Amino acid sequence: MTAAVTKTRFAPSPTGYLHIGNLRTALFNVLLARHARATFMLRIEDTDEMRSHEQYQLSLQEDLAWLGLDWQEGPVVGGAFGPYRQAERDSIYEKYFVALETRGLAYPCFCSEQELKMARRAQLAGGKPPRYSGKCAGLSTQEVEARLAQGLPFVLRFRIPQDKAITFNDLVRGPQNFRSEDIGDFIIRRNNGSPAFFFCNAIDDALMQVSHVVRGEDHLTNTPRQILLLEALQLPIPHYGHITLIVGHDGTPLSKRHGSRNIGQLREAGFLPEAIINYLARLGHTYDNPAFMTLEQLAADFSIARLGRSPAHYDEQQLLHWQREAVAHADPAALWQWVSGDVENLVPQAQQQAFLDAVRHNIVFPEEARHWAGVIFADDLALGEEARQAVRQAGSAFFQAAAEAVEHHPHDFKALANDLKQRTGKKGRDLFLPLRAALTGELDGPEMGQLLPLISQRRARQRLAACIQQ
Ligand code: GLU
Repeated sequence: MTAAVTKTRFAPSPTGYLHIGNLRTALFNVLLARHARATFMLRIEDTDEMRSHEQYQLSLQEDLAWLGLDWQEGPVVGGAFGPYRQAERDSIYEKYFVALETRGLAYPCFCSEQELKMARRAQLAGGKPPRYSGKCAGLSTQEVEARLAQGLPFVLRFRIPQDKAITFNDLVRGPQNFRSEDIGDFIIRRNNGSPAFFFCNAIDDALMQVSHVVRGEDHLTNTPRQILLLEALQLPIPHYGHITLIVGHDGTPLSKRHGSRNIGQLREAGFLPEAIINYLARLGHTYDNPAFMTLEQLAADFSIARLGRSPAHYDEQQLLHWQREAVAHADPAALWQWVSGDVENLVPQAQQQAFLDAVRHNIVFPEEARHWAGVIFADDLALGEEARQAVRQAGSAFFQAAAEAVEHHPHDFKALANDLKQRTGKKGRDLFLPLRAALTGELDGPEMGQLLPLISQRRARQRLAACIQQ
């Protein structure tokens, strides 16, 4: 039986901008929560003071909000289990360090970096996996005190139980087995007093009552350590699932080298949130429905059982496919907002709606809308080379006839074409291509039936007349 999903979370470290990889992790957690009508929580893992910056936290939050991935608990919105920034939770972690130390489950370790490095090297040379030798595990209280009195720096290590099997059922990868002797006593507090990432991460998931953790497989080896810690502290253990990493075309983890951009850059480039969401929801998760879906539909059909176990290949072409779909499905207000910066001084207000209807299937990014706005509403029209050729081929007489026909049918393209067919005897490509070329300067584009009324009789007249003189 699968356990009820009551709370999922996204727990980014604010050490950089939101990118495709960590966004997909956030998205799967949102979809899992929404599918189960559960809570999605945001927690900021900023214990690494050197690398964490508030600017990254703010931009992460801004990106999530822009994508419609809102959180019901976390920074800004609050909740019953805060604070939601780990930097504000030191006193909580301290309590658990003390609890472990008092029970002899954690001990100070004074081994120097140099000593540890040499021990590691020796183990590797002997063909053994490197793990802590346990040198400081048996220090007496007096020995510890003597070292503390000398002011030696120390870390706190968790004393792992002997010969213990750690098993868990990964939500994505199935049964997992680890042995405690392969792990070695690990560091839970660094020598500067800051807690190790997986210590706070595990404690917070337990205290914040997270039921399901979906995260990248790079965290798989942390999981047995976290389970041991939570067991020692008698805290609840969430269900863990580890998703495969996203790889580029060459099979290596996705990075800037593959042309991957962060979310802010994709937004700047004109990608719509729905495009990114539709793409990422399918990157390592299969949906039966190949059509564009809203976040709600994606959540309704989401299932952990459909998360793949092989690496997910990033493909920019797929992202572009979803971008086209997103533009085609965008509601008019959102679409206008998306293009307005580029076109508002060209498109008359009364024609905004008709303009969007005409061009929506021919644009992928706002600058293409700008191009069409120029074609339709600007008085000067520059004909491309191919268009000029089509115009020359049709000849003056054709445009003479077209100029007469447009006087009778200034707004109805079908009627205009029929009339011109009668006048010239031309049909099909020979009729439509030069007409389109003369009126738009291009050989293809939005439907002429929608363009002609927007171009206006005055411009249509002008453009056809210009083609008579060749
Ligand atoms: N702060 C960790 C990261 O960004 C979170 C890992 C997890 O989801 O448990 O990788």
